[in-house]
Amino acid sequence: MAIQASAEQQSALLDLQKHDTALLQLAHRRSSLPQISQVQDLEAQLGSFQLKLVAIKTEISDISLAQAKADNDVSQVVQRAERDQQRLDSGAVTSSKDLEALQHEIVSLKKRQTELEDVELEIMEQLEEARGVQVEIEAQVAATTSELELATQSRDAEFADIDALIAIEMSGRQQIVQSVDAELLALYDKIRIDLGGVGAALLHRGACQGCHISLDATEVDRIRNQPADTVVRCEECRRILVRTSESGL
Ligand SMILES: [Zn+2]
Repeated sequence: MAIQASAEQQSALLDLQKHDTALLQLAHRRSSLPQISQVQDLEAQLGSFQLKLVAIKTEISDISLAQAKADNDVSQVVQRAERDQQRLDSGAVTSSKDLEALQHEIVSLKKRQTELEDVELEIMEQLEEARGVQVEIEAQVAATTSELELATQSRDAEFADIDALIAIEMSGRQQIVQSVDAELLALYDKIRIDLGGVGAALLHRGACQGCHISLDATEVDRIRNQPADTVVRCEECRRILVRTSESGL
């Protein structure tokens, strides 16, 4: 049994449909903003740069520890050679065998010092290189952070614009909803949700504006003969077919 609703009520559905179509388009625009994926990409990039920064800082801290150890190794060898030299210079060591041993040790210590200083130098070079990498990564973090800020601002500005339009459509929709009979509204909403956003369509020059299929002459005749307050459905798409003066009946 078809729902009954006045022609005004039925035509109000077309106005409601305009708002719902606009809302659907706005929702689509909102969710497909290029800034959304731009922000996501930049967040991912920033995250990876930050991880790299943590890694290089850890590496620098490890190299610094190695540097401290190398410095300490060198100074121990230097101190020991100095002590040996002082003993040698003091004249306290008289036995030629001891003197020879002492001199031999000083030579070994100098050789060891050179080796340790090479290690020290190598570590210093590593440290310098790692600090250079840190500076590069910090620059990347800074550049990405400001890019992300801009993209986020741009996205949020678009969101705000779209949300303002959504609010206007929602308020327009709400005003119409108040005047539409609950049963008719429920039918419209159900069809709209089931059929991708369009619940009511105008019958225009014998065609349903919902599915854009022209009705055959028999069907047009059948609809023409329905009382004005009978809610008609499209035979093809089952949407509410609203008859107005434009319907060509
Ligand atoms: Zn249709």
